[in-house]
Amino acid sequence: MSIQETNPDLTFADFGFAEPITRAITEQGYIKPTPIQAQSMPHVLQGSDVMGAAQTGTGKTAAFVLPILQNILPFASNSASPARHPIRALVLTPTRELADQVADNAFKYAKFTDIRTAVVFGGVDMAPQTAQLRSGVELLIATPGRLLDHITQKTANLSQVQFLILDEADRMLDMGFLPDLQRIISLIPAQRQTLLFSATFSPEIKKLAQSYLRNPVTVEVARNNAAADTVRQIVHMVPSERKKDAVVKVLNARIQQGLSRQAIVFTNSRIGCSKLASALERSGIKAGAIHGDKSQIERMQILDAFKKGVVDVLVATDVAARGLDIADMPCVINHELPFNAEDYVHRIGRTGRAGAQGDAIALVDSSEEKLLLDIEKLMNRKLTRMPVPDPAGGPAADPFFYMPYQAKAAKDAKDTVSATDSPALSEVPPKNAGIKSAPRPVGALLGGFKKK
Ligand code: AMP
Repeated sequence: MSIQETNPDLTFADFGFAEPITRAITEQGYIKPTPIQAQSMPHVLQGSDVMGAAQTGTGKTAAFVLPILQNILPFASNSASPARHPIRALVLTPTRELADQVADNAFKYAKFTDIRTAVVFGGVDMAPQTAQLRSGVELLIATPGRLLDHITQKTANLSQVQFLILDEADRMLDMGFLPDLQRIISLIPAQRQTLLFSATFSPEIKKLAQSYLRNPVTVEVARNNAAADTVRQIVHMVPSERKKDAVVKVLNARIQQGLSRQAIVFTNSRIGCSKLASALERSGIKAGAIHGDKSQIERMQILDAFKKGVVDVLVATDVAARGLDIADMPCVINHELPFNAEDYVHRIGRTGRAGAQGDAIALVDSSEEKLLLDIEKLMNRKLTRMPVPDPAGGPAADPFFYMPYQAKAAKDAKDTVSATDSPALSEVPPKNAGIKSAPRPVGALLGGFKKK
């Protein structure tokens, strides 16, 4: 295994993508490959197994979908016969949201080819998925449980899969999907190319890779467990009974400073999540809750409302932490610290994406000091403690809130360190580079939500 260097001058043209794929890349407005793309795509195109350490927001979806499309393009067919459209590439993701997100991008990247793409995940009616699978699909994105349902019903056949992608593999293990993964992989031909992406390379992930990857090339664009440098992390020490008020104060202080109203607030429990959303509503803040007790339809509705700006604040449990591609989310608030320090890194990975600046604010009470120390140890940095802002005290009460949220200028993006050290799209000028005013329209803040 080796960690590859990135040539900073690489462009998409260097990869020799076929015209329909190049057209899709151009349509997306991608100018340069991101570090994870520049490092992993040559190996994927050459047929090597790849083990990629990349945080969400680094462009990792395109890093595997684009070369896989290129690799299966010779098999693409415009025949109507399902037999001509077997599943050739399978992407497994831990959550429904991530599956939906990956599929959303895959549809865009494949739209000018004859390659058929579909997504299957639980919590929604199986019938439309069954119909789609029966008519033939080359690139399938799935969560493990629902895929196994389709396999049992014989609507999904993996005997012709040549490409297997395990996305957010660490999360799949955390969520107890190992037996499902083992069962699914046992149905896929051994002669295949396997790619594994994970935010961290824990010993368990290394073991998984040893079992299922062959001489993988390791690519890594972020230090393990590092948060993006563009995220400003602040800790407010707040007794637990005052946390709800603190969230309201933080949000109102931001609005007072002309910052975006948008934020994701993380809570640890489903009940706490719903309660906090209701409490924010009562305080005049348009909020919605997204957690595991909500049906898939409800989750999609709330995401849609967030996307359209009907709600400004999404209160979420970790179920929402992974799958959501929210480009340029200005602010993440941790109402409680997660029990697992790595989850903190994932949570705050919702902000500071694509080189933009973001604020990650944690409300910490005395019972959580140990969790805070764990996080600081994991990230190898001390977080700044500050008093809760007081909107009534005016801007002078908290100089932190003077700083308007702004897309990181293209100039700054160039100043980044080497790709191996730099997390998240740091070499790619953000779409609105140079625009300093806030707030920005909701549509500009939300990158990858499924367009209905
Ligand atoms: P991901 O890490 O796959 O969730 O991607 C994060 C965001 O980066 C998505 O909104 C992509 O559309 C965007 N993206 C991916 N590749 C590029 C690129 N080369 N240039 C600019 N944006 C990109």
